[in-house]
Amino acid sequence: MARPYNFCAGPATLPEPVLAQAAAEMLDWHGQGLSVMEMSHRSEAFGQIHHAALARLRELLAVPAHFRILFMQGGGLGHNAIVPLNIGRGGPIDAVVSGAWSAKSLAEARRYGDAQPAADTGPDYTRLPDVASWRLRSDAAYVHVCGNETIHGVEMATLPALERPLVVDASSHILSRPVDWSRVGLVFAGAQKNVGIAGLTLVFVREDLLGHALPICPSAFNYTLVAQADSLFNTPPAYAIYVAGLVFDWLAARGGVAAMDAAAARKSQALYAAIDASGGYYANRVDPAARSRMNVPFFIHDERLTAPFLAGAKDAGLLQLKGHASVGGLRASLYNALPEPAVAALIDYLHHFQRRHG
Ligand code: PMP
Repeated sequence: MARPYNFCAGPATLPEPVLAQAAAEMLDWHGQGLSVMEMSHRSEAFGQIHHAALARLRELLAVPAHFRILFMQGGGLGHNAIVPLNIGRGGPIDAVVSGAWSAKSLAEARRYGDAQPAADTGPDYTRLPDVASWRLRSDAAYVHVCGNETIHGVEMATLPALERPLVVDASSHILSRPVDWSRVGLVFAGAQKNVGIAGLTLVFVREDLLGHALPICPSAFNYTLVAQADSLFNTPPAYAIYVAGLVFDWLAARGGVAAMDAAAARKSQALYAAIDASGGYYANRVDPAARSRMNVPFFIHDERLTAPFLAGAKDAGLLQLKGHASVGGLRASLYNALPEPAVAALIDYLHHFQRRHG
């Protein structure tokens, strides 16, 4: 039976071959007689899983040797606190507020330092502030940006070259485009969109930023201790690391990040083009220069049609298209694992619905 297409913003659709492999290996991983869920994180078998996933990830994103990759818990929101505790030094922190997630990052960082908005495009969050207009302090410990605002559908396609270390929340675009490592100090990403299942957070940290955690930083969230222990300071999210490894292998076999980058451009351009060509029946309100390739929020001209749109979409095998509660309307998330035919099916449905209800 064909599975419906899942446009959820996260936890999100996974590659079907990954689900099938995880299912096939559920009771007995590689003749060990146990599931990955049941293994010691210090066993040789899990060590293989862990190091293969790490190596594959480093290769996929061409992560330089002076960046450490950590597999942690905490989620994107957790790391909004863990980052300032580790590299904020209790001092000035600048944050570019371009949507709901960077607003939350700023609010959290304020608990641990003098965090200020370098720019703020709220409350609409439909554009990106010009880098030249950012109010940056020369003594800031770092500058926080959200590379892709999952709720508002605003993506920073190019990271700026700044004096101070750039921290990027890449939760909803990691592995959909290359990272310019010369421009960043730290990147973090929750796994439940482009990497795998909830519970795992990836952290890429430049080595020179380690060693300055505030004394109040919990040990299990101290990047230096976690790096020294090769992500085994305490029990890591072992099953989520295993699934991430399967996703990394799937991605590498399909042409890696370059192929995902090209597919993201094709999928998002097709959907925006269909929305823009609807004569105002559907609308995306984001400045075209800032439109996200991963999350496409859109509205029907008459809000009363949103519920019938969603019901019909579900019947057509197009799931989880409801917009975030704070924005309303609709949202299609087009992560790496969402196949291109899913976008074609959604566009067909947009046309069909407009013909019936237009
Ligand atoms: N940052 C971004 C960009 C996100 O999209 C999300 C979750 N949607 C988060 C942070 C928070 O992630 P978590 O729920 O894993 O804490």
